[in-house]
Amino acid sequence: MSDNSQESRPCPVCEETKKLKEYHNITICADCSKLAGTLIAEQQRITRLDALLSEGAKEQAEELPDVLDARRYRTRDRENNSWYVSISEMEGAPVEIFASTAFDRDQHLQSRISNLTTITRLISLILRHIYMGEKLTLEKTLNQLLRSSRQRNDLPDMLAKVLGNYAKKTEEAKTGGNEAP
Ligand SMILES: [Zn+2]
Repeated sequence: MSDNSQESRPCPVCEETKKLKEYHNITICADCSKLAGTLIAEQQRITRLDALLSEGAKEQAEELPDVLDARRYRTRDRENNSWYVSISEMEGAPVEIFASTAFDRDQHLQSRISNLTTITRLISLILRHIYMGEKLTLEKTLNQLLRSSRQRNDLPDMLAKVLGNYAKKTEEAKTGGNEAP
């Protein structure tokens, strides 16, 4: 009596009559399962390459052209101060925002400017993400906070320092937790 599972049958892939075995839920011959293994590995390579290529294309798209159309809006806040809000546009989509005012008789001028810069820099980062597909990262967020800071320990500087701990943690996890001197 022969064991049915060991009986030779036509392989559905190469169509040769061989002993078949289970491979990833299908029944094929040993030679074809080797080919399947190669095919799966190649598909994984192609998927990774494809992801890298589209990431590269997005990084390229992130760069803003030197000259952008801009629209300037005049508005007033609750204390009746005049504000100019400028929006840079790319193909009609907002990609950057700036705001300015005289800040008359302001005793906290430096901190008000840095807070305003923080808001507009972070909104601009989000706009580039929405309209240009720029990838958002913690590093970019920290960078915008640090560039908004005008004095040590003002609000953006303080937030960047606290959030910066997470950037270090992520970096340590990536490099296998080795303590840097
Ligand atoms: Zn086969």
